[in-house]
Amino acid sequence: MIKRILTGDRPTGPLHLGHFVGSLQNRVRLQDEYDTYVLIADVQALTDNFEHPEKLEANILEVALDYLAVGLDPEKVRIVVQSMVPELTELTIYFMNLVTVATLERNPTVKEEIKQRNFVKGVPVGFWSYPISQAADIAIFKADLVPVGEDQLPMIEQTREIVRRFNRLYGKVLIEPRAMLGAVARLPGTDGGAKMSKSVGNCICLGDPPEQVRKRVMSMFTDPKRIHPTDPGTVEGNPVFTYHDVFNPDQAEVEDLKERYRKGTVGDVEVKQRLFEALDSFLSPIRERREQLAANPKRVYEIIMEGTRTGRALAQSTMADVRHAMKIAYKFA
Ligand code: ATP
Ligand code: MG
Repeated sequence: MIKRILTGDRPTGPLHLGHFVGSLQNRVRLQDEYDTYVLIADVQALTDNFEHPEKLEANILEVALDYLAVGLDPEKVRIVVQSMVPELTELTIYFMNLVTVATLERNPTVKEEIKQRNFVKGVPVGFWSYPISQAADIAIFKADLVPVGEDQLPMIEQTREIVRRFNRLYGKVLIEPRAMLGAVARLPGTDGGAKMSKSVGNCICLGDPPEQVRKRVMSMFTDPKRIHPTDPGTVEGNPVFTYHDVFNPDQAEVEDLKERYRKGTVGDVEVKQRLFEALDSFLSPIRERREQLAANPKRVYEIIMEGTRTGRALAQSTMADVRHAMKIAYKFA
């Protein structure tokens, strides 16, 4: 049987370079081999944006445009809107019985994100327990493989535990998925932070105009100990060079820049200018395609609705199996 992929993104903003190297690239590469479902996770996005639900609708289109612009083919890939598959909510509730409070409290990614988000009125239960609903997302589509960035590894581990527990208790209905990391497991932010992230605003987005990209690159965090272009600088862990390694195909140029940086014979401006050029050639075709697609949103919505219909049918079929296995497929009539 053909294997399946499920992965997704929160519609909290347009997608960025981190998404590309962390997950999108693998989705595009594997779309011929795998039956691929991509979830636009608006319900999960609400868990920390419930005060601004108006953000979601516009960003669903933005995310779908990014998918198509990087080369996900709607003939092969189903784009599914999470809130339009209410079966996910039901499975989440059943899964809640299979997870302890202590396990949720230990989740390192959620802990980190809670710190970042600084919830003033305390942590909403919805946010704190999102690993459970994410497990339902993956399980309902019976995914074998989940291409994600490193921050999502605890979620996949949690999903595997829930699936094992479900199958042991009720019978083997669900599939234990595997995570697949991208070429870069975690792309740092332009601010030098550990992860480029929509909610932090340290991103270069796939559809950003060249001037915006230039601005972000020129103000990028580099080696804080280096004051003058003649000071020897550190390349390791310096995000400008991390980006060069990933996005500049001219490796000889990158090696030359690194050597001169270490010796103190090149300025930050030149290193950044070269990075801007490399990024601009990488982003130009994506941006162009994105603009063409954005001119016809009706077509994009058709793709989303078609994908969501197929996705929901699959979810309904899994739920029939789930209810049967749990002995709650009552036939009272
Ligand atoms: P938010 O800040 O709203 O959580 P995000 O930028 O973290 O947004 P998500 O929608 O949460 O993006 O993540 C979607 C997918 O992209 C996940 O698989 C995640 O691991 C991956 N991803 C996001 N940012 C990066 C990054 N900087 N490096 C590698 N992968 C990433
Ligand atoms: Mg995230």
